[in-house]
Amino acid sequence: MTDTTDEHGQTRDRRGEWRPEGRVRFMPLFDWPTTPRALARWFFGVPGFLLPWFGLYLGLTIIAYLFFTPDMARMVTLQRGWMLEILTRNLVMVGLFTGALHLWLYRWRGQGRRAKYNANWPAERDKRFLFNNQVYDNVFWSNIGVVIWSGFEVLLWWGYANQALPFSDLAQNPVWFVLWLLLMPFWRNFHFYCIHRLIHWPPLYRTVHYLHHKNVNVGPWSGMAMHPVEHALYFSCLLIHLVVPSHPLHMMFNGVTTALGPGVSHSGFDALVFGGRAEIRKEKLMHYLHHRYHSVNFGESAVPMDKWFGSFHDGSSEADAQFRARRAGS
Ligand SMILES: [Zn+2]
Ligand SMILES: [Zn+2]
Repeated sequence: MTDTTDEHGQTRDRRGEWRPEGRVRFMPLFDWPTTPRALARWFFGVPGFLLPWFGLYLGLTIIAYLFFTPDMARMVTLQRGWMLEILTRNLVMVGLFTGALHLWLYRWRGQGRRAKYNANWPAERDKRFLFNNQVYDNVFWSNIGVVIWSGFEVLLWWGYANQALPFSDLAQNPVWFVLWLLLMPFWRNFHFYCIHRLIHWPPLYRTVHYLHHKNVNVGPWSGMAMHPVEHALYFSCLLIHLVVPSHPLHMMFNGVTTALGPGVSHSGFDALVFGGRAEIRKEKLMHYLHHRYHSVNFGESAVPMDKWFGSFHDGSSEADAQFRARRAGS
């Protein structure tokens, strides 16, 4: 009734919200019954499991590993030089990646509000944020996050250099090497769901996770705008390499995905549109709805934990009505 049509012909409700057609869906791996054809389409299709994001993160990891990682022999002892090299490389990587998303979508407004969930742009002059500015606040906390990620990475590299960690490489066990890379998104999703539920426990929410949730109208830099305690929990997914035989490349891939993924999942847009033609769909409505409603969608799309534990919101108006009824009843 109060819906309006914006300059791109998209329908927005009275709150200025736009929703893509279709519902939020999980990866079909857990959708039974499924068909081998549907699985193959999901795995090899574009967008699909491998492309673009998995492939992009893996490519960046390989480049960082080959060209921007100190020599292992130097990492036997904890010394400032190589630790700072890792920190610098990670700051530059996040700066370029998240910065590019921000420039295109928000600074240049390269695609206007096409595929943007929220009609508004990030808050300037808002006292709730550091420096009274949402973007500056978000960039600051994201960089603290990179320091904490780099701390985990340094300690793990030190462990590998001293042969103190369970190790496996491509020559020794090629099947496990590839399989572990493919399993990484599932591990990360499972881990994220668990720590995310934990920090929604009211005492931790009030002291730690509130900082991330100041961002209702999210942008790429909001992704890692977290309290340092949340950063430590978030990047603790790297501790899996203390027990699971891995190559340092697995550890780096885990870290790179964990650090770059939030920029994409918080971009606030459903798709990247270049020149009105090429389009990379991101389907990040799931986490956007978490920022709008707080008590839905704690996880991501690889492992359907939210479906199993009854906190799933698929973006449809039926799910919206159910959510409001639940909230009114509680
Ligand atoms: Zn978030
Ligand atoms: Zn949350």
